[in-house]
Amino acid sequence: MVGKALVRALENDPRYELILRTREELDLTSQTAVNEFYTAEKPDQVIVAAAKVGGIVANSTYPVEFMIDNTRIALNTIQGAYEAGVGRLLFLGSTCIYPKLAPQPIPEDSLLTSPLEVTNEAYALAKITGLKLCQYYRQEYGVTYHSAMPTNLYGPGDNYHPENSHVLPGLLRRFHEAKEDGLEEVVVWGTGKPRREFLHVDDLAAALVHLLNLPDPPDWVNAGTGQDIPIGELAQLIAQTVGYTGRISYDTSRPDGTPRKLTDSSRIQSTGWTPAISLSDGLRLTYQDFLASNQSATL
Ligand code: GDP
Repeated sequence: MVGKALVRALENDPRYELILRTREELDLTSQTAVNEFYTAEKPDQVIVAAAKVGGIVANSTYPVEFMIDNTRIALNTIQGAYEAGVGRLLFLGSTCIYPKLAPQPIPEDSLLTSPLEVTNEAYALAKITGLKLCQYYRQEYGVTYHSAMPTNLYGPGDNYHPENSHVLPGLLRRFHEAKEDGLEEVVVWGTGKPRREFLHVDDLAAALVHLLNLPDPPDWVNAGTGQDIPIGELAQLIAQTVGYTGRISYDTSRPDGTPRKLTDSSRIQSTGWTPAISLSDGLRLTYQDFLASNQSATL
């Protein structure tokens, strides 16, 4: 999802010639494959957007796979880049690397100050490893390896799986199907009270290009909107976007996850980047993408 947004942002930019590989073409969990790729292509800059990602269910059901795959991807892409002479690398994580009870909005320097949220601990530990490895390479060997921590992303190319997806695409699908099937009730997981922040993926792509062009970027920096909303309010906004007019109920046997997750994005915003896509516009654009991809899936 992020990779495709980066391609949209960079493909017509004369400063860049993109070297792309699909998951089928290059297995980032294989050190040999990654090293062969670097040796053959010799990139000047690398953006590591690939990861094994999932929502609250997938993360807490498969911690072994989330830890192993994401740690391998981080080690292979970062170490391989250094050994191939890459001078600049931007590694992507997520704001779930911060402690469960970090101060809100979450500042960058709250990293590793207290325990993580258990439902995504395995993924977070793998991403912290990548972030720290970039920092250590920069410190020890003088290369500009740095990281960006996006808040919850949404937009074209999202995973709309009914169970193993994040809340926004998951609910978009559920409300859409409820409207199509004429259902009178849609069930939202948890209490609806946890608060989350959502950034459109095209805004993130612009932020990443901005960071790649800073001469002395922060070791790691948050990328968010600075605004969060309760899940219950998000559900209402999604219902409006898809035109669902029935009831919304809450299944409190499902986990809420971390109570609040708002990033302090003042650091990146002070370097000259701000998001441009409002949540209501972004939801409309995402729903169009969902309808288009749903249509092509049934052809
Ligand atoms: P998180 O941000 O890492 O907790 O991951 P999620 O995006 O999966 O969940 C965010 C919040 O939305 C949690 O409080 C969930 O309980 C709630 N939620 C409500 N309905 C859904 C849904 O249909 N799918 C998901 N993934 N979360 C939901």
